[in-house]
Amino acid sequence: MKTVNDYNFENKKALIRVDFNVPLNDAFEVTDTTRIQAAKPTIIKILEDGGSCVLMSHLGRPKGVDAKFSLGHIKDTVSSVLGVKVIFVEDCIGEKVEEAVANLKPGEILMLENLRFHKEEKAGDHAFAEQLSKCGDIYVNDAFGTAHRAHASTAVIAEFFPQNKCFGLLLAQEIESIDKVLHNSEKPVTAILGGAKVSSKIGIVENIIEKVDHIIIGGGMTFTFIKALGGDIGNSLVEEDKLALALEILEKAKQHNTQIHLPVDAVIADDFSNDANTKSVNTNEIPDGWMGLDVGLNTSENFAKVIADSKTILWNGPLGVFEMENFAKGTIALGDAIAEATENGAFSLVGGGDSVAAVKQFGFAEKVSYVSTGGGAMLESLEGKTLPGIEAILSE
Ligand code: AMP
Repeated sequence: MKTVNDYNFENKKALIRVDFNVPLNDAFEVTDTTRIQAAKPTIIKILEDGGSCVLMSHLGRPKGVDAKFSLGHIKDTVSSVLGVKVIFVEDCIGEKVEEAVANLKPGEILMLENLRFHKEEKAGDHAFAEQLSKCGDIYVNDAFGTAHRAHASTAVIAEFFPQNKCFGLLLAQEIESIDKVLHNSEKPVTAILGGAKVSSKIGIVENIIEKVDHIIIGGGMTFTFIKALGGDIGNSLVEEDKLALALEILEKAKQHNTQIHLPVDAVIADDFSNDANTKSVNTNEIPDGWMGLDVGLNTSENFAKVIADSKTILWNGPLGVFEMENFAKGTIALGDAIAEATENGAFSLVGGGDSVAAVKQFGFAEKVSYVSTGGGAMLESLEGKTLPGIEAILSE
């Protein structure tokens, strides 16, 4: 796996696909700089070598050119996070851009306008990728967040740099973390799958069931399993068409000696609201009119024991409706258990969709080994898929 560390960028122009799809407020100010911070080590390495950087990214979902989604809005924030002045050019292809690239000196950073102002980006257009490729000597992909897309700047472009393409440090770290959990893991390995639905996690379950020792299930998908096992789940979230699948998963786990841990108790509510009446009951004895919105205390204790004995931990999805304070306790207790196991030497990876939001909200980000920057890309990696953005760098 070639990374920027395998190159000396002296007097070279690195064309870097970054993921600067950052959140903006109504005044077009960046409200979370995590993604810019994440790209910093790669950019600094190249500048310190004596090279220059051409940054390209998308921002939001513009349909054609739309000033609201201009990367010009984030130019000053990128400058201050990197500690280096950023030059901005108002397109990503064409004469003006090529001129700005030609004028770029070692130590300088040029940022191109939103790639998605051209519909050819998402279409993975070959000619567009070729035009982009004129903006650098070496292509670097450091955008894990879009690595699952076969877009012009994330995958197609790589063919114009057959000898000069590599991963940025962030993308390399993402690949290594997933590998550490799925392929080179220290046992016992525990995967925690929460969130809303079985249907969105089934691909992950199928890929990991033979690789891990324990699967902890929480969140809304609990109740599809409990109902499939004959329990009463009241008005809890359920996917009726996945009941048979839930039983198949349990059976498959048995065959592979993988232990599945389901919640034994739940915090139930008489309304989907933080102000609802609540009580704690066995997961399989939820009365009509009530719904399970968090795991109960006994469940948290059971899960904590499994996690304390684990050497590798993967966490995807909250255990309850953590956005409401009264149903966040299970997710917090889980985060505490993972933090403690990590302190005791376990490797813990958190990623995919809402788990990152939960981890940040409750301050666990610094207490786990690695928090992935990719939502969809992380999920697809865990499903065992080869991501086009990664494949494009690896292929000869
Ligand atoms: P996902 O994107 O699949 O990880 O799902 C995350 C969402 O699942 C969060 O917004 C949670 O509020 C929701 N969730 C977790 N537990 C439950 C539950 N017991 N009932 C309904 N929704 C839940």
